[in-house]
Amino acid sequence: MPHIATTNPATGQVLKTYEAMSTEQLDDAIERTDLAFHQLRATTVDQRAQWMNAAADLLDAERDEIARIMTTEMGKTYVAAQAEVTKCASAARFYADKAPAFLADEPADADAVKATRAFIRYQPIGVVLAVMPWNFPLWQVMRFAAPALMAGNTGLLKHASNVPQTALLLEDVFRRAGFPEGAFTTVLVDSEAVDHILSDPRVRAATLTGSEPAGRSIAQIAGRELKKTVLELGGSDPFVVMPSADVDRAAEVATTARCQNNGQSCIAAKRFIVHTDVFDAFAEKFAANMAALRVGDPMDPNTDVGPLASERGRDEVHAQVRDAVDNGATVLCGGEPPSGDGWFYPPTVVTDLTPQMRMWSEEVFGPVAGLFRVSSYEEAIEVANGTSFGLGSNAWTRDLAEQERFATDLDAGNVFINGMTTSYPELPFGGVKNSGYGRELSALGMREFCNTKTVWVGEGAASAGAGAHAE
Ligand code: NAP
Repeated sequence: MPHIATTNPATGQVLKTYEAMSTEQLDDAIERTDLAFHQLRATTVDQRAQWMNAAADLLDAERDEIARIMTTEMGKTYVAAQAEVTKCASAARFYADKAPAFLADEPADADAVKATRAFIRYQPIGVVLAVMPWNFPLWQVMRFAAPALMAGNTGLLKHASNVPQTALLLEDVFRRAGFPEGAFTTVLVDSEAVDHILSDPRVRAATLTGSEPAGRSIAQIAGRELKKTVLELGGSDPFVVMPSADVDRAAEVATTARCQNNGQSCIAAKRFIVHTDVFDAFAEKFAANMAALRVGDPMDPNTDVGPLASERGRDEVHAQVRDAVDNGATVLCGGEPPSGDGWFYPPTVVTDLTPQMRMWSEEVFGPVAGLFRVSSYEEAIEVANGTSFGLGSNAWTRDLAEQERFATDLDAGNVFINGMTTSYPELPFGGVKNSGYGRELSALGMREFCNTKTVWVGEGAASAGAGAHAE
């Protein structure tokens, strides 16, 4: 059976299969995307903003159909899929609106460098390969594509093999919005083709959102080829609850933070680290909230948690839970997959974890929470920072001094106090340690794939100043 296929995770039924592109077809796609770069870089930022706004309008107009495809391909609830499409439209509009400012020449201190004028100019670098995961199949791509295209780069998308329809519809949306043919190209290939693509001199850089092994593989190829990469990898985010916290609210948000997207989010809170003074109260409420979530058909508006995206993913989550239980952990709710069709897994809370158990240090990509008891701020930080990951983090405390300490001491790319980690176009997003490097979103995300060019002008300069240009 071809690897590239739409398989409904709620039923296990294969609905559509695709042949992987041949090497010749792939090379043609790279050529088209490179030719489009030379066209796109010659356009004005205002022209690109018009196309990007048109893409946003198409997403809004076609939201329900796009959402249905996403739910069918990877199992997120239809309600969540609709919200994801809306978020993508608003990110597209954000970059259409902000790109002129983000790309404007930035004046530098000319006197200090003995120039008559000195400034920084941001310019596109060319074709950027995007290797993307299935879990937010539209959002993960859009948060790369909107800033990249607005900067004048072109995008080559190698999406996860289980979301080919979503991948193809994105190419179609950008084309219909008016972007030049080839400005955003989807290639239907297996991950082995990534080496061939990234070795091509026309491809200038790569961004990957996915697992640690995939990140290592792409970074190795990019290292060999001396190409820039941005890596957004896994996470096992801590969610710390201190004695001064609003425990009811924390237990409510914890449930969403763990089970959003059926528990398959890189920035889902995965390890709940609770001060002993409020541990029992939190544990009781959290387990009750988790147990009350409705698991079922993702198209049903009353469903909270749909199926996991693949059988392999569901089996892996269950193996991690079994490993903990077999080694003495306690299950407060869930822990057994239901019988029947589809790859469902119940919201689960596991406590009494020890460092020997997989759940202590591994990412669990499903609706399963690890619950840890600590007796001091210092111990909370030690457990929170005690994995190889450093993506998001959450801390609940009403003590202002403690909020400041958490903001400094949590070793992560994001710290959310009294809330759950999420992504906004306005804020940089990314990780430290094995969660990756580089940033997406905000002006920083756009500039990751720009040539940050220093311009120094000596005697004899004409009068035009920095700040006039935005390619
Ligand atoms: P994955 O296996 O790494 O797949 C992600 C993408 O990488 C897919 O397009 C996949 O292609 C490709 N890929 C896999 N192995 C590769 C290799 N050796 N070389 C090149 N490309 C390769 O990830 P997943 O397990 O499906 O997704 C979940 C992971 O993504 C989790 O760890 C999650 O935390 C992480 N994630 C991170 C973020 C973030 O922003 N930091 C966001 C979402 C998810 P195929 O599908 O063809 O194998």
